[in-house]
Parts: sequence; structure tokens; C-alpha cells
Amino acid sequence: MSRFYEIEPTPENYWRAIILFGRNTASYKFALAKALFDLRKQDKTVITLDELAVPYAHHLCEHLKHHPKQGTNDKSAFLEQLRAFNNGDIDHDEMLQQTIRRGFNYVLDAFHNVHGSTIDTAFFVNERKTGNRIHLTDAFFKLGEQKQLADLEQETEARWRLVEAAWENNISRNLMLVEYEESSQCLIGVNAIQRTNVTSARPALNGYQKGRCFYCFREISIVHGAPDSAEVDHFFPHMLKQCDHNKPIDGVANLVLACQECNRGPNGKFERLPSLPLLERLFNRNEYLISSHHPLRETLMAQTGSTSKKREEYIQEAYNCATLFVGAGKRKWQPTPQGEAIF
Ligand SMILES: [Zn+2]
Repeated sequence: MSRFYEIEPTPENYWRAIILFGRNTASYKFALAKALFDLRKQDKTVITLDELAVPYAHHLCEHLKHHPKQGTNDKSAFLEQLRAFNNGDIDHDEMLQQTIRRGFNYVLDAFHNVHGSTIDTAFFVNERKTGNRIHLTDAFFKLGEQKQLADLEQETEARWRLVEAAWENNISRNLMLVEYEESSQCLIGVNAIQRTNVTSARPALNGYQKGRCFYCFREISIVHGAPDSAEVDHFFPHMLKQCDHNKPIDGVANLVLACQECNRGPNGKFERLPSLPLLERLFNRNEYLISSHHPLRETLMAQTGSTSKKREEYIQEAYNCATLFVGAGKRKWQPTPQGEAIF
């Protein structure tokens, strides 16, 4: 049995996608998620912005007390008002008025947006412009029926804290990470101040694959311009690149060498998601590179986790995310073997 598993496109999984994935420029979506859980106990489907502002601002104020940085932009007029309230400079009513006026400008529109598009399941309808309210949907109330509500609440809080910590520590700023540059087909070392050409990508990846296509085991050449020349392929589709800074699509962990047929032939992979056995193969490849003290070891660990268990969770999370957003309703891709399975 595989260590990895497929997920179903259920409301819980879409909810997790909103909380776990997607670009975070401020923590508003976490506060909104927690506010919706609080209001759910009242069993009402229509929530006015006056009602929503109370728990929403409360959660943000509580987090601001311990973590002053709640976004990548330090100059938020809304957060300034919440800080003023925490300092005793404005009263509770004034703080709520400011929340209603400034606090919902983006978060209600952006909540369901993951990977640059709106997800298939909506948990509320945004009626801010027409009636200063939101309308909770059946999908939102179904979250509770699955007895997973407490888990989902805790996951929201956990993710919020992780994001805060990353902002505060500027995690990754001083790490030299290696990523792939399409134009030069090279691996580039990247840190806060410079980008350094490390090596051509093909030889760096070919050692493990022993001159075979990662997917079908067909023989490939790493000589540039050869008829059977290998192509650098993104296991998780390149279109996921902009979705989350925590998911380095151009990172080494996601790059393999593929034959031209697998990469872009009539039955090629293109933007499809590879099958579960291929996911396991990618995990094993990365574990091999780490355990053999490959020069890319540090990059692989920084990008996907410091322990094998964390890396397994990371790759499963990436697969779940990709299944919902590029693979929903589509068969996973699996080529016909063209040679002996040697890795
Ligand atoms: Zn192939």
C-alpha cells in the first residue's frame, strides 16, 4: 500500500485549501475564518457586517497583542485602528466602526480565491455591497456535520501562528536556496542579496535517474540538442507556482528529467497531475538525495522539511492542493513503461 493517498473534493478539503494554501499578505482570512466559526453557533444564515465585525476584530486584536506584524504591508490603516484600541486610545464602539469601514475591503472578496481563481465551493455569499451582510451557505454548515469542526478551528489557529512566525523571523531570508531558472535551464542559488548560477540542471538531476526518463524509464541523453535530449519537468504543474511561497514549484524537490514523449508527446503529461505511484517515486528520489548527502540536501530539507515525516506531510499537502486546483475531476496521468523500472 502506498504511503500517500488521494483526497475527495469535500467541503472540508476546500476549507483546508483556503486556510492552508494561497498567498498570505495579511492574516485577515484567518480572523474571518475564526469569526465564522464563532457565529456558526448562533445558527443564522444571514450575518450583518455589524455582527461579523465583533468576533473578527476580536481575533485580530488578540493576535496583535502578541504579534505586532500581521501582514507584509506595515502601513495598514485598519490595523492601526486596532492597535489604537489595544492601547486604549479609542473605545470599543469606535474600533468596531473602523472595522466595518476599513476591515472588510478585501477579505470578503478574496476569501475563496486560491491559486488566482475562485474555488468551486463557496462558504458564504458576499452581499457587502448590496446589503452590508454575508449569507452563509449549506457548504459552510456541512463542515460541522462531519464532526471535524474542532479540528478545522485548531488548524486555522495553527496556520495563523505559523504565518506570523514566518513574517516575524523573515524565514528563508538568510537561507541559500536552489531553484530552477527556465531561461538558462540552470539551478540558481538564491538568497536575500544575490542570485548565483550553481549548475546546469540536467547533470545535477541525472545521477539518480541513471539516464532514464523519470516517468517511463525510456533512455534519455543529457547532451543539449541530442535527438533524445532530456527535458527538465515540473512534477507539480508549473501553473501552481504563484500560489504559495511555501511551495517552491521551481525547487529541486519538484524537478525531474523527462523524455520528450512524457513531457509533451501526444499522451504527454503537460499540466496534468501524475499518479500516486509516481508521487511515491518522487518522494523516494528526494529521500535518496537527502540521505546520500547530495549537494542539494540542504535545499531539499529547507524547502520540504527537516525530517522524513515532515517531508511526507509536505508532499501529501502539495498533492492534495494540486488535486483540488488542477486535478479536480480529472484522471491522474500515468505513462506506459518504456524500460525496466530501475528506481
Ligand atoms: Zn518518458
